[in-house]
Amino acid sequence: MTNFVLHKAWKLMIIQMNLQNLIHEIPTGVKLVAVSKTQPVQTIRALYDSGQRMFGENKVQELVAKQPQLPGDIEWHFIGHLQRNKVKFIAPVTSLIHSIDSFKLLKDVNKEAEKICRKVNCLLQFHIASEETKFGLDWEEAVSMLASPEYPELKFVNICGVMGMATFTENQERVRQEFSHLHTVFQRLKETYFKESPDFKELSMGMTNDYLVAIEEGSTMLRIGSMIFRPG
Ligand SMILES: *Cc1c(COP(=O)(O)O)cnc(C)c1O
Repeated sequence: MTNFVLHKAWKLMIIQMNLQNLIHEIPTGVKLVAVSKTQPVQTIRALYDSGQRMFGENKVQELVAKQPQLPGDIEWHFIGHLQRNKVKFIAPVTSLIHSIDSFKLLKDVNKEAEKICRKVNCLLQFHIASEETKFGLDWEEAVSMLASPEYPELKFVNICGVMGMATFTENQERVRQEFSHLHTVFQRLKETYFKESPDFKELSMGMTNDYLVAIEEGSTMLRIGSMIFRPG
């Protein structure tokens, strides 16, 4: 073996170890989406071989390019901002869209899903951070969508919960407040609009820098990338 091949094998082993170490920290019942954006298919394959099945991508082209090169039982989660004209490319292949941030987008997903006769699972993304740039709904927007007479007609989308990203800050108390707020939003929606929907159960929050706080605040689904893929 050349040094290059050895180095590559070594890197993959470290990534598999990172994943195992992380899994030991996660309580049972909390799911892990390995955020594989920018990672090559061989690296994803190595994690697949050690048992990981949920992967997250934030670019449509990237997800669509990787998906056919990897095993069919991978669950591909779409976690990035979704442009309406790209919905048609991911509707056939995604198992959960985390980033529904407008009624228009939800209607587009429904339309594309109907064309292929496939019910698409979605989360409503809420704006919980103080940064202006992060996408997401606020409470009023979500309510006006769910209470609209058009909403019950969307038979090809299945809303499974909510997603949010906390402010990028060292201030753990602030992050905790934002996650706690998202948990409250989740519960209020559950009681008001999804009482009869057992599928409405996911609270997608927590990334490399804040997953421990997210778990404490009730996360059911972590989206973690850099911590798994860092080389040492
Ligand atoms: C990149 C990304 C993540 C993972 O972030 P890390 O800090 O690498 O763990 C999670 N969620 C979204 C929406 C992302 O774009």
